[in-house]
Amino acid sequence: MIQNPIIIEVAKDTYILNLMGLQSPALMVGTERALLLDTGLGNFDMMSIVRRITDKPVMLVLSHAHSDHMGGIGQFQEVYLHPADIPAAQAFDADRLIHEDDHTPTQQEFVARAASEFRAKPENIFAIPGTIVEDTFPSRRFIPLQPDEIIDLGGRQVQILEERGHTAGEIAVLDFQSRILFSGDGISPLFSITAADIQTVRDDLIHIRAHASDFDRIYHGHSGAFDPTMLCSDSISLLDAILKILDDAIDGTDPGQPVSETLRTRSYGGVQLYWNHPKES
Ligand SMILES: [Zn+2]
Repeated sequence: MIQNPIIIEVAKDTYILNLMGLQSPALMVGTERALLLDTGLGNFDMMSIVRRITDKPVMLVLSHAHSDHMGGIGQFQEVYLHPADIPAAQAFDADRLIHEDDHTPTQQEFVARAASEFRAKPENIFAIPGTIVEDTFPSRRFIPLQPDEIIDLGGRQVQILEERGHTAGEIAVLDFQSRILFSGDGISPLFSITAADIQTVRDDLIHIRAHASDFDRIYHGHSGAFDPTMLCSDSISLLDAILKILDDAIDGTDPGQPVSETLRTRSYGGVQLYWNHPKES
């Protein structure tokens, strides 16, 4: 199992665990407990990585129930997430062995292989080497988060904001202390909306936009972007570009380019947005 991601303290007591450029789970440490947002593919020993930073109890929150964000839930007895994503998380086999190689790759090998497999076939991103964490808690509890719920970590609070669209129950975490919005696979330069209509997505994003005075930086769930050492944050302009695309699609100003009968896309302001477009009958 791989144990050496690049850990970056992006603000006081606020860390991003750059999993070789593939995913970037976040860790926020309060005086009472820590909040871990996402666990990556499951080929990193997240618990020992977290224990290098803090010995406080850890609350695991999932941005959404996709396997590249919850692969490591095998190490956690309790998992907090949006209720609409609980069925997908329950169906997920935390103990699955994706692929086993006879040697653990170096960071360089890992990134090169993952990047080339991803370019060849995006779904192959899951077929990368490394031993997957064992499921230590088969009777795990999935605990629903409420929209706008405030979570107190002791001396610092974070807020759960609904960000539906990429999945039925994606959430973002707003950290008031670091003034960072952790946006999962929602607000990001490559945002694919397949699980909600664009009006619902827009409503959620307008609600997040109303909190703009509480954050300066946005880190999405893949902020490492295929580079194990780099980490990029975005600003509110990323959210505004997404809103502009949605507004134009809703009012017909720019309906986007068809990708298939049911999928449309548009590139604007550094964002490539994909969305489901119901077939006209
Ligand atoms: Zn996803």
